[in-house]
Amino acid sequence: MVSTVPSSDLHETPPDEDLPSQSSHGAMQSNVLALNRNFQPVHVISVRRAFCLLYKEQAEVISVENGHYANYSFESWLELCELKTALGERGDDDDWIRAVNFEIQVPRVIRLLDYDRMPRNTVKFNRRNIFLRDGHRCQYCGKRYSSSRLSLDHVLPKSRGGPDTWENIVCACLKCNVTKGGRTPTEAGMKLLRPPARPHRNPTLSRQLSFRKYADWKNFIHGAD
Ligand SMILES: [Zn+2]
Repeated sequence: MVSTVPSSDLHETPPDEDLPSQSSHGAMQSNVLALNRNFQPVHVISVRRAFCLLYKEQAEVISVENGHYANYSFESWLELCELKTALGERGDDDDWIRAVNFEIQVPRVIRLLDYDRMPRNTVKFNRRNIFLRDGHRCQYCGKRYSSSRLSLDHVLPKSRGGPDTWENIVCACLKCNVTKGGRTPTEAGMKLLRPPARPHRNPTLSRQLSFRKYADWKNFIHGAD
């Protein structure tokens, strides 16, 4: 994820009566960008967690309206949603969820009112993020595979001092990995699709930024355009 957050409060769920009905299932799978108090993006959270924080007044909705930011408490957001419902103003990319007595729009961005910590700038170096960085594509033959059919390849083999770094590890299918063996790509006559590099942004986040419904996130994520 974009970064840290683990305050124990962020993991609580609201009381059952506030949970939306199952018909809102799709909307519940969306993500919400959480900003710290200084409007810096610190985490990508679930809709459920976002509403929980709003409900407990630990966060406010940040809405981008005609290039300006507007902020709403849970109550005022709900009022706005009632108004939008009455006027039939719903955007194509909006997600709405239906609770027992009301309908509410899923906010795309919230601001954590008590959270001062800075965003973490480094992307966690792990298998999952390497696969995501490379788009699940073998960096030698260029074909896409599921995680279970991919392996990690040391470009400069480990046996020859190749380090465990973003710059030396790529996604490779099992066949290419075996073909390459303990050789460098040049020795094996194989070519990398592109030189591996440390990603500037969490690969999951990069993927979400490509969806139109998360366009508002770009206002808060540096270099997202
Ligand atoms: Zn391959």
